[in-house]
Amino acid sequence: MATAPTSAGSMLQLVRSGQANTRRELQALTGLSRSTVAHRLDLLLDVGWLEESGVDSSSGGRPPTRLRFNEGHAVVLAASLDTTRARAAVLDLGGRPLAEHSGDLHVSDGPEPVLDTLAGWFTDLLERAGRRADEVCGIGVAVPGPVEFETGRVVRPPIMPGWDGYPIPDHLRKTFDAPVLVDNDANMMALGEHAAGHPDCPAFVLVKVSTGIGAGVIVSGGVYRGIDGGAGDIGHIRLHDRDDALCQCGSRGCLAAVASGRALAAELTRLGVPTDSGSGVRDHLRADLPEAVRLAREAGRRVGEVLTTVVCVLNPGVLMVSGDLAETHFVTGVREVLYQRALARATRNLQVVTGRLGDRAGLHGVGRLVVDHLYAPAQADARLAEGTAP
Ligand SMILES: [Zn+2]
Repeated sequence: MATAPTSAGSMLQLVRSGQANTRRELQALTGLSRSTVAHRLDLLLDVGWLEESGVDSSSGGRPPTRLRFNEGHAVVLAASLDTTRARAAVLDLGGRPLAEHSGDLHVSDGPEPVLDTLAGWFTDLLERAGRRADEVCGIGVAVPGPVEFETGRVVRPPIMPGWDGYPIPDHLRKTFDAPVLVDNDANMMALGEHAAGHPDCPAFVLVKVSTGIGAGVIVSGGVYRGIDGGAGDIGHIRLHDRDDALCQCGSRGCLAAVASGRALAAELTRLGVPTDSGSGVRDHLRADLPEAVRLAREAGRRVGEVLTTVVCVLNPGVLMVSGDLAETHFVTGVREVLYQRALARATRNLQVVTGRLGDRAGLHGVGRLVVDHLYAPAQADARLAEGTAP
C-alpha cells in the first residue's frame, strides 16, 4: 500500500502536477497538520522552488494564496546533437527557451572537440540569457545513439565513432557544476512531443527517420528504456530480403541501411540526383521529385513492416513519425503496410501522426527530462538536504 506523500519533495510534486494549489489542498492531500505543511512549505519557498501568488477565486471568504512552481528560479542547459548539426539552449524550468543556438557540429569529430564546442555554446548562451553559471540546476544532452542512462555513457553507437563508453557527464562537469543527464535523441523527441501534444496518451511511440532510424517509447508519462537503454533501437533490425545492403554498423540488411535518409540519399545519388543527407532527401520530397517520392513511399513501407510488430507489441494510442523523412509520401507508405498487416485490434484506436515540434522536439524533451528528474520527490528531498539547490 502506498504511504501518504508527506515530505517537502512530495508536496512540491503535488503542486507541480497541479493536484494541489493551496495550503489547504496540501493539508487535505497529505493529512498533515497546518503547521507541518507550513514548515515544509517554508523550505520550498526559501529555496525559491515554489512561489505564492494571485488568488484562488473559486472559494468564498478570504481568498487563499495560490502556490505554484517557480519556473524562473533556475535554468537548464539543453542540447540535442544530430550527426552533423546540433541545437543548444538555455531553458527556464517550464521549458521556455531564454537563448538558443544551432549550428554545424559533427559527432564524427569525436567526443572531446564536440563537447568543448558545446560547452562554449552554453557559456555564450548563458550570457545572452543574462543568467549565471551557478543558476544552472542541470544539463541535458540528447545524442543520436544508444545510451546507458544511469551513467550517461553512449553504448556502441553505430554512427558516433569514438564515443563508445565516453563519460559525457564528466566532460561537461569540468565546465559546469551541475548534474548532467544524457539520453538517446528519439527518446527525447518522444518525451518532448508527448508533453507538447499528447500528454494524456498512456502509450506513445515516436519513430525518428533522418540519417538513421530510431524510436522512443513513452509509457505512463515516462521514457521506457528497457534493461540496457536499447528499447526502440529499431534501425538495425535486419530485413530478410536485403542482404545486399551494407549498414554502417557492419551488418547487412538493416532497416537503416535500406530505408533511412542516408540510404535514400545514396540511392538518389546513384540514380543521378546528387543528395548528401536526409535533409537533402526532404528537400527533394518537398519539390515532388518523382524518384524521391517513389523511394520515400517504398522506404515508408519497409519501416511500416517493422512498426507493425512494434504496434502489436506495445498497442500505442499514438504513433508519431518524425525526422527528415516525415513527409507525406513516406507516412503514406507506413500507413499502407501498418493497417494492412497489423491486427485490427492493435490499430483500432491508433493515430498515425507527424511531429509538431520539428527540430526542437529533442530540446523540449531534454528540458522536461532534467526538470522531472531533479524535482522528483526523492531527488528534491536529497537536494534540499544537501543544500545543493541553485
Ligand atoms: Zn545496422
